[in-house]
Amino acid sequence: MVDGAELQRRLGQLALISEVPAPVVTRVLFSEADLRGRAYVRRAAADAGLTVREDAVGNLFARWEGAEPSLPAVGTGSHTDAIPNAGLYDGVVGVLGGFEALAALRRSGFRPRRSLEVVMFTAEEPTRFGLGCLGSRLMAGSLTPEKARAMRDREGRSLDELRAAAGFRGALESVRLPSGCFHAFVELHIEQGPILEKEGIPIGIVEHIAGPSSYRVTLHGDGGHAGAVLMPVRHDASLAAAEIALAVERAATTSGSADTVGTTGVFRIEPGAVNSVPYRACLEIDLRDTRMDTRGKAYDGIRNAADEICARRGIRMEFDEINADPPASGDPGTIAIAEDVCASLGLASKRLVSRAYHDSLFMARICPTTMIFIPCRNGWSHRPEEYATPAHIAAGTAVLAHTLARLAS
Ligand SMILES: [Zn+2]
Repeated sequence: MVDGAELQRRLGQLALISEVPAPVVTRVLFSEADLRGRAYVRRAAADAGLTVREDAVGNLFARWEGAEPSLPAVGTGSHTDAIPNAGLYDGVVGVLGGFEALAALRRSGFRPRRSLEVVMFTAEEPTRFGLGCLGSRLMAGSLTPEKARAMRDREGRSLDELRAAAGFRGALESVRLPSGCFHAFVELHIEQGPILEKEGIPIGIVEHIAGPSSYRVTLHGDGGHAGAVLMPVRHDASLAAAEIALAVERAATTSGSADTVGTTGVFRIEPGAVNSVPYRACLEIDLRDTRMDTRGKAYDGIRNAADEICARRGIRMEFDEINADPPASGDPGTIAIAEDVCASLGLASKRLVSRAYHDSLFMARICPTTMIFIPCRNGWSHRPEEYATPAHIAAGTAVLAHTLARLAS
């Protein structure tokens, strides 16, 4: 019942709306391309016969009114913003697939009891403000309006300034959704990992979404001439940083959970000259897990090791949290419905952990949530070579349509 060809046509059209030439997609929040992308999504929603509402930060809700409109709605959706030099499937499959799922249900003669809504979230990607899932965080109350107002992009522009210029006014306080607003939420997305493709399984159903956290560590040592300062009296900031990076690996591999991952992705030393002892080092550490207890254990391991290393080496340390979100679990009832739909459609499915985070991480805080994953080539994402087959996209959209229909009945 899903019109896969029509969905492909629309994916191709939206991909052409980009800051750079096709097939590369760049749509940064409130850029000219993002605004044209939003206009395209508004038209696509209207073509699907849906009623559009947009909130003060640009989250878009496209609604198919149910027979009992006062009941909490069933939601689906994702994002259409894209990091620089991205592909055309991340997020977009969940938005345009959501429209096609609803259109397919309408063509089949289905009439929902609960209203159905496709949500396009503002700024899932952190490109402009350094914080991802801006729209869904505000909707769920995970980001306060005060903090959102204080954010600045690299050019020093505020969210209020940028959203006003994009035509989104009103208080940020109004973005937060009342609890019980959604009966359930299901997000369709490419896996962005290799498991489904490797195992030849067309559908993944998300059981857990890992909670990301990140930290900035600044180490102040003592510089000097690389020839003149003898080894016993050195306070080399880069060596403390190197030991801390190894401690991150050790803490992640000994947390007791295979889902703990720790990465030191930023490593800067000053002054950065071959004949000068580094007097300062700056690290940024990313630590994620599906469980708070094991992530906490890994964090403690890193923190204790860093204290010990700095004390031993005579280094002064600043250890700051950049961000820490708790993980989320998929709703067992919603997962069971999606699995049952897969079985009835003759599609193999597998429960997965989402290791990247998504708007669903925040939707899960306010309503029963799961995600439907489809395979993507080589697990590639956030690059122009990102690819999902039309058959997998159509299959994922069919699973989404049937799952939404059951939830809305
Ligand atoms: Zn995404």
